[in-house]
Amino acid sequence: MFNFWSGKKKRVTKRVPVTKERQHYLAHKEMARELVLTRLHYWNQFYNFNYNRVVIRNQKTCWGSCSSLKNLNFSYKIIFLPIHLQDYVVLHELCHLKELHHGPAFWQEMAKVMPDFSERRGELRKIERQYHTFVLDRVLY
Ligand SMILES: [Zn+2]
Repeated sequence: MFNFWSGKKKRVTKRVPVTKERQHYLAHKEMARELVLTRLHYWNQFYNFNYNRVVIRNQKTCWGSCSSLKNLNFSYKIIFLPIHLQDYVVLHELCHLKELHHGPAFWQEMAKVMPDFSERRGELRKIERQYHTFVLDRVLY
């Protein structure tokens, strides 16, 4: 729009269209945050690890991640998993706070409170293959 009084062009704010995908994320994000925080709190009773930020994202590649700064990230899509697999993902990232790798020490840490973690891991992989969705997770260094 051109304002002939001032001679200046009025700034037109462009609306970024909200995609269906983003709408879906926004509609479920808070629910996912609540679930993740509740389950983290539950599992951390057994470990008492310290963590900083817990962020729920619409991440494309993984269910969760843990950084060396002790920040935990989770995909909002975690709420669409069966409960025992939600717990697998939460506990998995929680244990990365101590062991930031996938070596034997890491799996030992998980096995302390989830002896059947291996079966759950297999089930999650099956879901990933079925829906062509995430690879398990990626540790961010
Ligand atoms: Zn991992």
